[in-house]
Amino acid sequence: MFDVDTDRTLVAAADLVNTAAGLRSATPGPDQLATVAQLKKYLNQRDGDIRWPASNADRTQLSRVRDLRDKVHEIWAAAPIETEAPVQVLNQLLSGVGLRIGRTSDGQHRAEPVPASAELADVMTASIATSIQHLVVREETARMRTCRGESCEAVIIDLTRNRSRLFCDFGNCANRAHVRAYRARQAAHRKDPSPRPTPAAQTPVETEGAASARLVKPSAAEKAAQIQEPTSQSATAAKEFRERMRDELMEKRGKKSKKSKKGKKK
Ligand SMILES: [Zn+2]
Repeated sequence: MFDVDTDRTLVAAADLVNTAAGLRSATPGPDQLATVAQLKKYLNQRDGDIRWPASNADRTQLSRVRDLRDKVHEIWAAAPIETEAPVQVLNQLLSGVGLRIGRTSDGQHRAEPVPASAELADVMTASIATSIQHLVVREETARMRTCRGESCEAVIIDLTRNRSRLFCDFGNCANRAHVRAYRARQAAHRKDPSPRPTPAAQTPVETEGAASARLVKPSAAEKAAQIQEPTSQSATAAKEFRERMRDELMEKRGKKSKKSKKGKKK
């Protein structure tokens, strides 16, 4: 989505936050960053190109990386960032971080963060804080999210072009939400069993009535939409699900500014 380094580091940052204890797709998970061995495991799971000095991992670095995790979580929970507090946390992380011009593997110039020291925690801090800074200056902090799954506290980084990612990869959050939405629609349908004017549900008689009522003057766009109208029940459900999720996301974005620090779970 951004450049490869930024994308890679943002994924690593989300993974770091997700090592904290909490609900992952309705399953309570323990702290995954309690020992030096676990820190090494986290580092070994990184893309090799991230170049964080894994051999530096010791108790001191573990403790500092855990502090870093708390601060990154604080920033993430405040996203989309509209207040000064998370920016101040980010500025704390950026203090002592320099900038130099390097070259990518294909020879292009690029800005590289210079950490306060060669210690693991400082290298990680410089790398993560710089990548989050990219999001802030580009007004893209809404890409730092919490999974929309029920009973899930996992954070996600949405690197999709159309900002469509809502669920984590820990379990079946997307599927559970889909089933819940389906059941809610079924329940609503039982309460109000009026026939839905989808092409698949129309009997010939209804088509006639609906057509005369609707056929004022279909635009080209309406015709196109009708051709694309899903015909199977599952395709219709999937389409409704996508629309509903989009609505909820918009609603959440709208409310976010009024919401107090609800996102903080400590
Ligand atoms: Zn989830």
